[in-house]
Amino acid sequence: MVVVMRGGASDVDIDKVVHAITEAGGDAFVSRGKHQTIIGLVGDLTHFAELPLHAFPGVEDVIRVSKPYKLVSNDAHPRPSTVWVGDSAIGRDTVTLIAGPCAVETEEQAREACRMAKEAGATILRGGAYKPRTSPYSFQGLGEPGLDLLQATARDLQLPFVTEVVTPADVETVAAKADMLQVGARNMQNFQLLKEVGMAGRPVLLKRGLTATIDEWIMAAEYIAQTGNLQIVLCERGIRTYEPMTRNTLDVSAVPVAQSLSHLPIIIDPSHSGGRRELVLPLIRAAIAVGADGVIVDVHPHPESALVDGPQALVKEDVVRLRETVARFAEAAGRDVARVDHERSTGAWGRSASVL
Ligand code: PEP
Ligand code: MN
Repeated sequence: MVVVMRGGASDVDIDKVVHAITEAGGDAFVSRGKHQTIIGLVGDLTHFAELPLHAFPGVEDVIRVSKPYKLVSNDAHPRPSTVWVGDSAIGRDTVTLIAGPCAVETEEQAREACRMAKEAGATILRGGAYKPRTSPYSFQGLGEPGLDLLQATARDLQLPFVTEVVTPADVETVAAKADMLQVGARNMQNFQLLKEVGMAGRPVLLKRGLTATIDEWIMAAEYIAQTGNLQIVLCERGIRTYEPMTRNTLDVSAVPVAQSLSHLPIIIDPSHSGGRRELVLPLIRAAIAVGADGVIVDVHPHPESALVDGPQALVKEDVVRLRETVARFAEAAGRDVARVDHERSTGAWGRSASVL
């Protein structure tokens, strides 16, 4: 950290800053320039970060040089991590397809959608049983019966699944059945939920908030990591901008930026970002080209009667193109399409998530 003093700061002002730093157990190096003095801080930054240095007399600015997150930073862990969900990996060598219905609506719909997902090459299924909806009058998800339907479908198809948990009170129930827990965009800064989810012992899919900066998003991941759980995958799902032609604006830059800061895998959600079926495959191409470790895609057998997000769901006719798009672009990016690795199976694949 660097403290920049104002032009007119006195020696007393400078001494006060130096004293506060040394009291906090650090070292302060003073560089007196012709017009301004700069103080470099060395030591345990967690102590300095708590000092109200901005409020000290004569201080113009306090600049953080190192990253505010530690556990998820690639300073701490230079090799990109691979997160295992059951026997399916998400990491830097492969492109992972996660697919399924936005919401579980009926048994038939969940089964059909998950079958479509598997046929498209998905190695992890998705589906919402607890839905965070903008309107309280919209379908809120089936809750635990929906979770049971999804679990039964996923077990029949021999694939793990990810599902959203919206409140700390449901974490235990969801973690007992799901292979990966999703924290949705609207809950990215629900710090209590982040901690509970972290402690549940499951891999976590952390979506970026609608108006969250990349730093805020990675700090949210740090909350999960603080519980001792480093099985975290970041998901860029579009951010809110002034553009109304798409549901959200997919921030493709977030992929290389997050990769330059954190060792965590990062995937893209082209369904919730574009919000329209015809945008999903082009956004998948962009995602893989920019270096994403995977994509999470909505599919639905009858989107015209879907209770949630029908317009963005891929349909049966899209399944082959989805599979081919992922395969071609993964190859062009020098990666393999992720496959389920039953070799790795411990015999209890639904319970075997870990981080490499
Ligand atoms: C979802 O994945 O179903 C969802 C609600 O996504 P988001 O939190 O990104 O809006
Ligand atoms: Mn949705």
